[in-house]
Amino acid sequence: MTLLASVRRHSLRVQQRLHRWSICGTDGGQLLSDGPSASAAGPPRSRSCCSEEPPVLSPSASGPFTVVLLGDDGVGKTALASIFAGAADSMQCDYEPDGGEVVEQHMLVDGESATVTLLDTWDSQNTDCCPQAGDAFIIVYSITDRASFLRAAELRVLLRREREPHHTPIILVGNKSDLVRRREVSVNEGRTCAMVFDCKFIETSAAMQHNVWPLFEGIVRQLRLRRDSAEAINRWQAQYQQPESVPKKAKRFIDKLVAKKNKHAAFKLKSKSCHDLSVL
Ligand code: GDP
Ligand code: MG
Repeated sequence: MTLLASVRRHSLRVQQRLHRWSICGTDGGQLLSDGPSASAAGPPRSRSCCSEEPPVLSPSASGPFTVVLLGDDGVGKTALASIFAGAADSMQCDYEPDGGEVVEQHMLVDGESATVTLLDTWDSQNTDCCPQAGDAFIIVYSITDRASFLRAAELRVLLRREREPHHTPIILVGNKSDLVRRREVSVNEGRTCAMVFDCKFIETSAAMQHNVWPLFEGIVRQLRLRRDSAEAINRWQAQYQQPESVPKKAKRFIDKLVAKKNKHAAFKLKSKSCHDLSVL
């Protein structure tokens, strides 16, 4: 199936879901904190909450955001995408095995609507990676497959060459957390990898629909946090930045050099929380 055909097929589904979808809040899986915003979004959107009344979406939709799924074959990208597309059972998705999928959804996160297009079109055989254009990336590995974890780290490195982490959210996802006895990658390894590579981390189970919506919700929050901080910087620059004299500029430069090492490092350490998707 061509990408275009796939988009067409999904646009029909999207129309049908426009009035029915809401991203509900995190279920507070062990790796995610329950921020105040999470509770505002309501209970997790699982099979049981499909019967809820349709939410009223605000007309000021943010986005559209394009989110790209990356990761080895078999790690569960399509299963995650099928949950995003509204499949009641992600293990029985009607996607064609090799067909790239593009799913657009309208989500309500923290009371604000967002339009997200999820691309499950990446060719994992593409060893050069060349990640597609996207506003955010989800790198998936399977906790039962160490090779896929190593591949995820590789992908993160490749992405880092192209993407500035402060501008592009990247979330490392350890999927298949339900397969406890087959675990090859510990939670700590996943978390450490995310900290080293400067991205967020969450473990999910597409099979149990555990932490899947907190993942998608989290990516929207990460996009908004970057958008909001960029806007705040722009506002600050417009308001307060007066033309600076040369001596003042020189002083500021030297101050920065001196302070940078200690202060910046300390701030980074304090604010790093790779498992909390509701903070930068
Ligand atoms: P993809 O190649 O990355 O798109 O992987 P798929 O989504 O096609 O999943 C590969 C296989 O893993 C399928 O048989 C899925 O049913 C299964 N699978 C995906 N996610 C999970 C999960 O969270 N738990 C379990 N137990 N199986 C999963
Ligand atoms: Mg797939």
